[in-house]
Amino acid sequence: MKRNLIISIILFASLLYGQNIDFNKYFTDKTMRIDYFHIGDAKSELVTIDQIYQYGIWAGSLKNLIDNFNNGAYYYKIYDAASGKLIFSKGFDSYFKEYQTSDEASKGIKRTYQESAIIPYPLNKIRFVLEKRDKQNELKEVFSTVIDPADLYIHKDMVKDKDVKVYKQHYSGDPHKKVDVVILAEGYTAKEKQKFEKDLKRFTNLFLSQQPYKSNKDKFNIYGVYKPSMESGCDEPGANLYRNTVLNSTYYSLGSERYLLTEDNKTMRDLAANVPYDAIYIMVNNSRYGGGGIYNFYCTFISDNQYSDYIFLHEFGHSFGGLADEYYTSDVAYNDFYPAGLEPVEPNITRLLDKDNLKWKNLITPGIAIPTPWEKEKYDELDLAWQKNRREMNIKIAEMKRNKMPRKEIDDAQNEYNRIEKEHSGVIDKYLQSCKDYGKVGAFEGAGYSSKGMYRSMLDCIMFSKGSKPFCKVCADHLEKVIEHYTD
Ligand SMILES: [Zn+2]
Repeated sequence: MKRNLIISIILFASLLYGQNIDFNKYFTDKTMRIDYFHIGDAKSELVTIDQIYQYGIWAGSLKNLIDNFNNGAYYYKIYDAASGKLIFSKGFDSYFKEYQTSDEASKGIKRTYQESAIIPYPLNKIRFVLEKRDKQNELKEVFSTVIDPADLYIHKDMVKDKDVKVYKQHYSGDPHKKVDVVILAEGYTAKEKQKFEKDLKRFTNLFLSQQPYKSNKDKFNIYGVYKPSMESGCDEPGANLYRNTVLNSTYYSLGSERYLLTEDNKTMRDLAANVPYDAIYIMVNNSRYGGGGIYNFYCTFISDNQYSDYIFLHEFGHSFGGLADEYYTSDVAYNDFYPAGLEPVEPNITRLLDKDNLKWKNLITPGIAIPTPWEKEKYDELDLAWQKNRREMNIKIAEMKRNKMPRKEIDDAQNEYNRIEKEHSGVIDKYLQSCKDYGKVGAFEGAGYSSKGMYRSMLDCIMFSKGSKPFCKVCADHLEKVIEHYTD
């Protein structure tokens, strides 16, 4: 009787904590990359397998194979085909999902995006399942197929590119037990190799000086991968500027002038595969403000803007941590990014639908009111005026570039823009610091592109406003958990 009870408890516990998958039973220490196409418009989507690759070692944890963060709009799940057991999963966001919220997509214009699922190499047949959140945020299958790891058509010929140089910028040990971050060179010509080396060093040092990365230094490996681009910089369609670069990155992604992304997933994956990696940075050799980050996909930042440091840390918060934007006054490319009445999955914003079960309730400052009243009206006034000004200045500068105005005039206009931008940031920082509950954890209205009905945990955070500043306590706490997931 007692034995049966113990067995029942063990069975129950293993149901609850079913994530302890024996790596060696299901996988070998190599990587499988499943490339697929994601096709559709606002209402439809179709997935087709492109090509499958085998390469390198497995960079991720040998222990934490199931992703329990329940973050991201999508999940890919790997089941052992014979037993039906879930043996690997990962939440992520996609460029395709962002396209689905654009005006073009809502007009029924279909587009194709390229994505990859990166998994440890299975020993036996697997079922590869793609799931997407429905209107209630529940994950529902959108695609499923069986993959045989012994398939003769799996590519095993990923040879090293002779033009590629790999840098072990910060190495602390076995990739299975570290977060492996790769910084890819984009828009650095052969002549700019030394600049890449300098930039790589600068940003690696910055990374390791920001919490919570700083106190987890020995849990990270940071690599640089350099491949020369034919031309310097990247595309800027609004200014009629096009550059021949390795990763084809571009401003004006989804029509937003500072949204810097690449659609060239395959080339990016090939370049990144020169090292074992868990997370990808694309370092774009440019000075114009821009960046982007998509959860468990990649992030971009520019090397030489006065806000490069901020963009570098902010975008990785998206791509590595799955953190949401906490700001709400800027222009974005999306319509209804977070549906009304539904709690977002990201850990750092909330609709406060269940006040007593706030996601960050263990971090709340004792005695603080929920929601937390704050001096919002004046902030909105200050920031909206700047957003309008910024839009106008940007349009003017892009126009000057299109009209091929003298370099000096463009530079002067850009410098003036930078000056006003910096001045505005200073005003905002001071204003937030002067608010009554600055530094406290509560639920402050205004977050996730919504001025009303969406809340963030602290008045300021590097996911909220520009500048040299820490992550809020909720973001930092979540990042710690993600680091743990990869390094445990
Ligand atoms: Zn935050």
